[in-house]
Amino acid sequence: MPLTVFTSDRWADHLTPPGHPERVERAEVMQVVASEFRRRGGAVVEPRAATEDELARIHDRDHIALIRETAGRAVALDPDTFTSPETYDVARLAAGAAVGAVDHVLDAGRGARALAMVRPPGHHAERNRAMGFCFFNNVAIAAAHARARGLARVAVVDYDVHHGNGTQRSFYQDPSVLFISSHQFPFYPGTGAADEIGSGKGAGFTANFPLEAGSTDVDYERIYAAAAAILRQFHPQLILISAGFDAHADDPLGGMRVTTPQFGRLTAVIAEEADECCDGRLVAVTEGGYDLAALAGSLRAVIDVLDGTTSLRALAVPTGAAPRADASLAAVRPHLSKFWQL
Ligand SMILES: [Zn+2]
Repeated sequence: MPLTVFTSDRWADHLTPPGHPERVERAEVMQVVASEFRRRGGAVVEPRAATEDELARIHDRDHIALIRETAGRAVALDPDTFTSPETYDVARLAAGAAVGAVDHVLDAGRGARALAMVRPPGHHAERNRAMGFCFFNNVAIAAAHARARGLARVAVVDYDVHHGNGTQRSFYQDPSVLFISSHQFPFYPGTGAADEIGSGKGAGFTANFPLEAGSTDVDYERIYAAAAAILRQFHPQLILISAGFDAHADDPLGGMRVTTPQFGRLTAVIAEEADECCDGRLVAVTEGGYDLAALAGSLRAVIDVLDGTTSLRALAVPTGAAPRADASLAAVRPHLSKFWQL
């Protein structure tokens, strides 16, 4: 499977205050992983910045202007979300990497996959609000770009430990973009309850799988079997992954117990649906993941799946009881079963 990685050493130019988890060392991890991939013959592409029109498919012009006006300065936009002098440029480049990854996958033909390995992350950013370390919603901007290019159905699957509130709100009334999220609940940012399923024409096209803290590989395996079933029925023309690794057992923010190989499996389960429904068209966009070793290992696990070094069959299936997944599925079914067979 041909994989192209969109990444940049510019991620290191977005600085956060001392002790902040979304720290510059995350950029160094991404550079190391990208170099390894390049050394084994992988394609690594320097992205371009997203244009204002591309950002404006998701964000108000006022919000874009607000972030632009922080250029050259360090500003606290909320208690967790800080700019540094180059943040505006770096955040536009991260969004552009996600857009470029979509363009690549749509133009490169059957089976093309891409990974936008970026920081700052994006999935908490709302139309008019930077929050949760996020300025522009990279994955939502990528989904909107795919729609603007004429795709009728796009799916976004978010396995970051936090709920992707910004992505959900971007498409809450929109049946053309299916949003599926698994996340620790209750937890930051507070959204993502089982009864949040979309509204109006979008009813049923948001699927939240809230999970109690302590969820394991087996819990995630069960949840992603259900997510895969929804994907199969929706039959998207492109699948995007919000690939956050803060559900990892070693993560300092999340309270989950997911192991490094399971991030490969989750990605492989989603990739298999992409192979079935949309000629393999799959784009992963990184989100959180705050333990540096876990971040590095999980990125490698995802790259190994996306470039075909390993496959779903080759990755061990976790087994055992999954009480937290059972509870989540029991909470979700009453709300989603009229839209999807679960
Ligand atoms: Zn997160």
